[in-house]
Amino acid sequence: MIAAVYRGAGKVIAEEWPRPAIGDSEVLLRLLGCGLCGSDIAKIVDPSTPVPLVLGHEVVGEIVALGPDVTDCAIGDRVVAAHHVPCGDCHYCRRGSESMCRAFKASNLDPGGFAEYVRVPAPNVRHALFRVPRHVTDEAASFVEPLACCLRSVRRARVAPGDTVVVVGLGSIGCLFVQLLRHAGAAVVGCDPIAARAELARRLGAAAAGPAPVAAAAQRELSGGRGADQVIVTGGGTDVLPWAVASLRDGGTLHYFAAGGDTLPLRLETLYHRELTLTATYSSSPSDLTEAFRLIVAGEVSVDGLVTHRVTLPGLDRGVDLMRRREALKVYVTP
Ligand SMILES: [Zn+2]
Ligand SMILES: [Zn+2]
Repeated sequence: MIAAVYRGAGKVIAEEWPRPAIGDSEVLLRLLGCGLCGSDIAKIVDPSTPVPLVLGHEVVGEIVALGPDVTDCAIGDRVVAAHHVPCGDCHYCRRGSESMCRAFKASNLDPGGFAEYVRVPAPNVRHALFRVPRHVTDEAASFVEPLACCLRSVRRARVAPGDTVVVVGLGSIGCLFVQLLRHAGAAVVGCDPIAARAELARRLGAAAAGPAPVAAAAQRELSGGRGADQVIVTGGGTDVLPWAVASLRDGGTLHYFAAGGDTLPLRLETLYHRELTLTATYSSSPSDLTEAFRLIVAGEVSVDGLVTHRVTLPGLDRGVDLMRRREALKVYVTP
């Protein structure tokens, strides 16, 4: 079969890859599509990423084979399969840190979403396989995973009705955040220098959106001068931290959704005296995925217009380029 393989030095190449064989409790998917995620790009630009590697984890596929012990799905089913699954029973899992569970990081789709066929291991089949109803498109279904990650952040940052929240970065993730935060009863301000992205965020429910000065003014007005209750950073790394901290009210929460590899330039004095909370989330849990799946199936979160570019596996390197140049909001990859 063909897979788009990361070969190091920023290069992704479509090449032959062995088609995975499945075990008794496993499922084989024929790929329908897979979203290209910012975290895939982060791995591609990181020189320490081991190669060869097949990335992709926002997978929707059709079941073409299943083991004799798989009983609750059938050949022909269209499904979303999550790539990481926690054990559900360890110290981490029992305390809500499912994505820190040792089993979580060890689990994976084989070889990854950017391949013609994908093996879904037994724990993923049991805990993180969602049958997609007919009215939901493949592309919409591929947003279940990123939406679940955003949902985990909204929960962790303890967003409540009446809060004012600033979202920094209005890529596809920022646009999902805008909707989830509106859903949680917050007034949302989007911050992004790209005008088209700000406009989309407003269309999706942001009270205001624009470059930093516009966002700062809107946030002050909506919060009665107090500052935002939460600032969620989806991009920009540590560069945006001083601005984000200045935008927060005393006692507010700064949430990092994305990594950057840098040290945070934040004075401990500020953190302490202003009683700020710094939170972060990594990936999502099965319960986040379940709720994200429900929101997409019910149409409570719209992903219309978020996919701006479509590429095939041999064209994945072009998709990576488009994302790195911030030309694409979301790239969707088909075989
Ligand atoms: Zn992702
Ligand atoms: Zn666990």
